Amino acid sequence: MDNRVYAVRCSDYGQSEERLVELVEMMGGMGAFVREGETIALKANLLRAGAPEEAVSTHPAVVSAVARMVKKQGAEPVIVDSPGAGFRFTRKVLTRIYQACGMSEAADESGAGLNFDTTFEVVFFPEGKLIKRFEIITPILKSDGVLNLCKLKSHTFTAMTGAVKNHFGVIPGLAKPGYHAKLMDTSRFANMLLDLMGIVSSRLSIMDAVLAMEGDGPSGGDPREVGLFLGATNPLALDVVAGEIIGLPREMNPVLMEAEKRGMTPTRMNQVELLGSDISGLRCPDFRLPGTLCQGTGFSDHLTWWQRPLQPLFKDSLTQKPRISRKKCTACGACLQACPMKAISMAKYRGKTHALIDEEKCIRCYCCHEMCSDDAVILRRSLLYRFANR
Ligand code: SF4
Ligand code: SF4
Repeated sequence: MDNRVYAVRCSDYGQSEERLVELVEMMGGMGAFVREGETIALKANLLRAGAPEEAVSTHPAVVSAVARMVKKQGAEPVIVDSPGAGFRFTRKVLTRIYQACGMSEAADESGAGLNFDTTFEVVFFPEGKLIKRFEIITPILKSDGVLNLCKLKSHTFTAMTGAVKNHFGVIPGLAKPGYHAKLMDTSRFANMLLDLMGIVSSRLSIMDAVLAMEGDGPSGGDPREVGLFLGATNPLALDVVAGEIIGLPREMNPVLMEAEKRGMTPTRMNQVELLGSDISGLRCPDFRLPGTLCQGTGFSDHLTWWQRPLQPLFKDSLTQKPRISRKKCTACGACLQACPMKAISMAKYRGKTHALIDEEKCIRCYCCHEMCSDDAVILRRSLLYRFANR
């Protein structure tokens, strides 16, 4: 597969159009990816309703700039995503999210369409190594091609979300928790993502890393200026570079580790050809990774000799447990819908309704944290956890 990744600096979304044209020109121009008369799905990351400055979703300036390039080729761009696990894939939900994320304006100013087809189809994928049957939203299947417009964010479950993970948005909203329930550990989940990437087969991936998200992303982290657009035809190559930029150890990135086991390339920086910049000039050494890395793939490799044998004994204490803040919870119910284990219910305390987590049922997938737009899901760290992460 193509191992080239292209990088272009962009310090302000006001320069998006100019910088993205530069990026795509370096890759051979939009004509290399889109043909006249085609319908092109712009698969943005629209996790939840959040203003562009929250860095939760692909910035509207990016989506509209790419849409204009697609239109110049005589093709029809349509903005498409099925938002996060706690949302039904309905017209009402889409309207709210398009408005909050700036997609309605992006569509107006660029002439792109907004998808309101909320149907999906079951697709069989015999080539899948782990999953051979997916539910995929119809607008992706009906399009002639997909452009993957992902966002660089830290991720409490998969360590980071980038080009490969963005494909999960082609699964209809409430079907997503089912995948978390079936694939509880990050390795199996990453394998599913690799199969999904194969079925969607996006023609081009562009990563919005102008304003990325660090900390406990992909929803409740903090915006972080990285000032960059990355482009690649191979989503895996793009994620290798993105991981290197944010200082995510390769062995803690389940997507790269599982891809390597499958013999896919590239999964290491020395297998990538980076064009447009030197990697040393792109690194963000102080980028905050999610606290949950303490329990994920490859964590053992980072323990000292005396910590490693103790890990199985204290496994539970080394995981971050989600807890609901009664004060902040608005009882919106988004986390209930997202929870794959039905571990969340509603309870009442002093006349106020709030969500409540049953720790015994919880598998630490953090979908509730991802879905809560009120910061009411807190990831609790034990004393031992803090000690191990000094
Ligand atoms: S915890 Fe958050 S997502 Fe869950 S009900 Fe409360 S406000 Fe809604
Ligand atoms: S309560 Fe546990 S299992 Fe349910 S969504 Fe939250 S982290 Fe996942």
